[in-house]
Amino acid sequence: MLKLTLKDGSVREVENGQSAADIIKGIGAGLFKAACCVKINGEVKDLRTIIDNDCEFEVMTFDSLDGKKTFWHTASHILAQAVKRLFPEAKLAIGPAIDTGFYYDFDVEKPFSADELLKIEAEMKKIVKEGIALEQFEMSPADAIAYLKEQGEPYKVELCEEHADKGEPISFYKQGDFTDLCAGPHLLSTAPVKAFKLLSCTGAYWRGNEKNKMLTRIYAVAFPKASELEEHLKKLEEAKLRDHNKLGRELEYFTTVDYVGQGLPILLPKGTRVIQLLQRWIEDEEQKRGCLLTKTPLMAKRDLYRISGHWDHYLDGMFVLGDPTDETKECFALRPMTCPFQYQVYLNRQRSYRDLPMRLTETSTLFRNEDSGEMHGLIRVRQFTISEGHYILRPDQLEEEFKGCLELAKYCLDTVGLLEDCTFRFSQWDPANPKNKYEGTKEQWEEAQRVMGQILDHLGVEYTVGIDEAAFYGPKLDIQYKNVFGKEDTLVTIQIDMLLAEKFGMYYIDKDGQKKLPYIIHRTSLGCYERTLAYMIEHFAGVMPLWLAPEQVRLLPIGEQHVEYAQKLADRLTSLGMRVTVDSRDDNIGPKIKASRLERIPYTFIIGDKEFFQVLKP
Ligand SMILES: [Zn+2]
Ligand SMILES: [Zn+2]
Repeated sequence: MLKLTLKDGSVREVENGQSAADIIKGIGAGLFKAACCVKINGEVKDLRTIIDNDCEFEVMTFDSLDGKKTFWHTASHILAQAVKRLFPEAKLAIGPAIDTGFYYDFDVEKPFSADELLKIEAEMKKIVKEGIALEQFEMSPADAIAYLKEQGEPYKVELCEEHADKGEPISFYKQGDFTDLCAGPHLLSTAPVKAFKLLSCTGAYWRGNEKNKMLTRIYAVAFPKASELEEHLKKLEEAKLRDHNKLGRELEYFTTVDYVGQGLPILLPKGTRVIQLLQRWIEDEEQKRGCLLTKTPLMAKRDLYRISGHWDHYLDGMFVLGDPTDETKECFALRPMTCPFQYQVYLNRQRSYRDLPMRLTETSTLFRNEDSGEMHGLIRVRQFTISEGHYILRPDQLEEEFKGCLELAKYCLDTVGLLEDCTFRFSQWDPANPKNKYEGTKEQWEEAQRVMGQILDHLGVEYTVGIDEAAFYGPKLDIQYKNVFGKEDTLVTIQIDMLLAEKFGMYYIDKDGQKKLPYIIHRTSLGCYERTLAYMIEHFAGVMPLWLAPEQVRLLPIGEQHVEYAQKLADRLTSLGMRVTVDSRDDNIGPKIKASRLERIPYTFIIGDKEFFQVLKP
């Protein structure tokens, strides 16, 4: 008999060699019906997994993200099966679950029309009704590649060939007439995917790389019950009204222009004003906390990035000016981070223990060559401005300074109204990462993560752990935020770095006269300005808090004879530092009020014969 420790701490004895599904059936029929996957010793596994060891055993239902993702991934196979039934010539690319549902990429002659999407939905309904069982099987890499070639699936062949190097068997899932290369986990059958909706059909480059072919991506979402889907779609409609990518454009905060480039937003006067106000405030706050402002170049020769490790670990993420392979000519790159530049300020002369901590900060424009498929309004961009700090300190100052950074970030996020919806993630390296993404030794990483974990526990920070989310030089505390559609991104990050100081020879002379290496904290205080603005537009549905509103007050004179008074009043308010306009168009008051409301002006005053009075807040 095996001992399974369940989530509530109770221990259950089961016979050796049963599948997880059978064990759950034994626990209860209701739980079996709801189960999507299991966690065995903390690792997400398929319900088909045979249990042959004592373990911690947790059943994941649709209520958990892991359960949802298994459910959605199965739904994505149903989508692909329906497409293959209706459009046999369609080639399959990838179809993962994401945080907000799932998608599948197809190579088809032309994108699916609205009518075709309805047909696909109808076919999916049939597949769910058929209640087809999903079976998992494996093939050797050579057989798998031969099979996929025979099936005429070039994208799957490409994926399979990459896995083949590992020499491990290749996993497939089959449901009736449809088979997909897939690591799982999956539901046992198509039957539970009762309610779903195809949300949109867009273009997406194969592997997010614009050098590759443009594929057709269908985004969708699925639920066990129709009522849950309805509720979700209703929320989605509400979210659309707040979506900064729509509202921010309508309110003229920003725009994008095709021939300027993706991920390169043009900030219009309103958006620029908000960012200016945020920036002045942040720079003052940082100064109050003993920070020294620097201004360093936006690009450097590759020699700098070679020392910092960016050239080895981050080249794909950088915009390179010149031929990176030609060593006979100078080659530059736009900066993706400020660190190696700011270190030169510290290195300007010999430092002693008395100079530390040295808190350097910069309002810094950065460039990152993100995949074009990732671009989204002001949230995912290729050029952004961020208040980036590097604190160079003695080991004994680490906890105190980390605390200061965390307090600053919390204060800033609280002030702009975003803190209460933030979550914290302790982002760690992945010791098994095959991509060789990280600098430093196992011992250095373990030490940095131990120290950071200890500090977080001391400070009582509640966090989740993100494996393989660290920076290449150290672990991070990431402050995460979700946009209106539930997609999560990092807003603020605080990182502990025990590696880069050595690379740059940043020694200081300690009390005992010895040369020692400092620790470095990399931190942002508010997060990048563009992203913060996007989240604020969504959070406040376009009605900025008064202190940040690009236009705080609008005066609406009723008749021509009131314009002069309105203008005088505007001048007076402007001289007091308020941002005021007068709407003196020759028009009725009705449309003027409507315009003011639509533009989310915090205060609108109507000015007539007798008096002026506040009419509305948006
Ligand atoms: Zn799959
Ligand atoms: Zn940095």
